[in-house]
Amino acid sequence: MIKRTKLDALFSKYIKLRAGGYCQFDSKFFGVRSRGLHCAHCFSRGRRLVRHHPDNAVALCYYHHMYLDHHPLEKAEFFLGKLGTKKYMALKRLADKTTKEVPLDLEKTEQLLKEQILFLEEK
Ligand SMILES: [Zn+2]
Repeated sequence: MIKRTKLDALFSKYIKLRAGGYCQFDSKFFGVRSRGLHCAHCFSRGRRLVRHHPDNAVALCYYHHMYLDHHPLEKAEFFLGKLGTKKYMALKRLADKTTKEVPLDLEKTEQLLKEQILFLEEK
C-alpha cells in the first residue's frame, strides 16, 4: 500500500466537497464528512503526476469504489463518460509520464487545493 500523505487528505476533502457529499456513481447522499464516501482514483495513486489531479478522482461510496476497482473495463467506461474522450486521453497520457519528464510541484498543488476547498466551503 502507498502511504497516505497530508496532500492526499487535502485532495480527498476537495473531491468530496466538489461532489457535494454524493456518490458520483448512483447519486446517493452521504455527506462530505462521511466515512462511507471515498475519494476514488481513475489511475492509481502510484501514478504520481495524476495523484492529485482534479480529473483523476471522483467521490464514490464504499460499494461503488470496490466495485469499479474490481471491474477495470467498467471503471474506464465510467471515467470516460464523466470526462469525455479528450480529457480522459490527456489524463492517461499524463499518468504514463514520469516526474523526470514532467516535474512535480507539490507546493503549488497544495495551494490550489486549499483555494478550491475554501471556495467550495463558502458556497
Ligand atoms: Zn455508490
